Amino acid sequence: MDKSNGLRVILFPLPLQGCINPMIQLAKILHSRGFSITVIHTRFNAPKASSHPLFTFLQIQDGLSETETSTHDVTLLLTLLNRSCESPFRECLTKLLQSADSETGEEKHRITCLIDESGWIFTQPIAKSLNLPRLALSTYKLSFFRSHFVLPQLRSEMYLPLQDSEQDDDPVEEFPPLRKKDLLQILDKETEILDSYMKMILETTKASSGLINISSCEELDQDSLIQAREDFQVPIFTIGPSHSYFPGSSSSLVTVDDTSIPWLDKQEDKSVIYVSFGSIATIGEAEFMEIAWGLRNSNQPFLWVVRVDSVVHGTERIDAIPKKFIEQLHEKGKIVNWAPQQEVLKHRAIGGFLTHNGWNSTVESVFEGVPMICLPFEWDQLLNARFVSDVWMVGLHLEGRIERHVIEGVIRRLLSETEGKAIRERMELLKEKVGRSVKPKGSSYRSLQYLIDYISSF
Ligand code: UDP
Repeated sequence: MDKSNGLRVILFPLPLQGCINPMIQLAKILHSRGFSITVIHTRFNAPKASSHPLFTFLQIQDGLSETETSTHDVTLLLTLLNRSCESPFRECLTKLLQSADSETGEEKHRITCLIDESGWIFTQPIAKSLNLPRLALSTYKLSFFRSHFVLPQLRSEMYLPLQDSEQDDDPVEEFPPLRKKDLLQILDKETEILDSYMKMILETTKASSGLINISSCEELDQDSLIQAREDFQVPIFTIGPSHSYFPGSSSSLVTVDDTSIPWLDKQEDKSVIYVSFGSIATIGEAEFMEIAWGLRNSNQPFLWVVRVDSVVHGTERIDAIPKKFIEQLHEKGKIVNWAPQQEVLKHRAIGGFLTHNGWNSTVESVFEGVPMICLPFEWDQLLNARFVSDVWMVGLHLEGRIERHVIEGVIRRLLSETEGKAIRERMELLKEKVGRSVKPKGSSYRSLQYLIDYISSF
């Protein structure tokens, strides 16, 4: 590890698993380059401070009730958090800057900048008022981050409803490579709150000192990088995949089931279908049964993450499903509450990933060269899935059909000699390209060095 460079960076993640992982990765990267790290975080979904003894953690009150934090409506949750965290954050940051001023001797660290998630919309004006440079961090694919600001306009102009189902597969020219049916699924959300929230994200990103594209690399974002630089007019640092620097799941909010890897050790090479829909998505009981039958009928072993809160309707989790059926499922597969996903994807036994295409999951799969079966549910997942199936052609798309025979058929195609082989070969090439980006002289490696130089210069 480098010696301390006397500079401190303040990080402020959004309290969602898909945002905490990359932010903690960034903390580890910066710490390894000599920076001291302070993480300001909410009480809700607080990162496990004990897993990161080298960082300072400061908790602020988020003022949210248990009912509010258990909502599955992410827009509502983010709106509430932005409303209630502004004052506690301002107070915390102001105190930090004051105490840094009063430090002396060896203790002394200059606070160089604030790095927080682009979804915090009050941090830019606060940082400005305190004369502290702020960089926004995006955990989306850059193509989505850049283009999603056009959604309010698309909604108002034309896209609802589609006149004719034959247009379903037509491309959305303003938002490639989305198809019209994907766009409808994205727009199928409440509007006003979301539109004004996005407007604020756009304004505060443009006013920031830079944008860190943490979970992606130039090789995955070639389509949008040049345009994004023009749109935002701030330096953009594309430094991912972030998890490649310090692999492991130490920032998981949920206890990881350690039995997954020993179980995989007993399976044949490239035979297991890993199934996970990330930390937020939920499915109904009927959908659960269709996926279960599809997996079982495919006759392939499977490792399936079913979070405590992920099967809705009726009682909790898989307790709602008849025990006998679950026992039968366990003959061929394994169900866990939370897996060490990055280790799982790295395992030689994994042959495919049935995924919701959250951006972290998508990149983690590419990084390990695991072909995907795409089942996106909402928001950026729809775009990520199109890149996987239509642009890079490293996976097959379920087109929303959660039906046992469709799932069974797609698993067979993915593992097959002909179609599957071509997909695996393309995935191998993409994996190599992305892997090279984080090696010395690679695009992400160089971009990270620019970022370090940049924040050291403040
Ligand atoms: N993850 C994990 N274990 C699981 C399921 C997910 O460690 O059983 C991690 C996964 O590796 C990824 C993150 O949780 O880093 C999920 O982020 P993603 O962007 O894919 O989806 P989101 O949860 O934001 O919908």
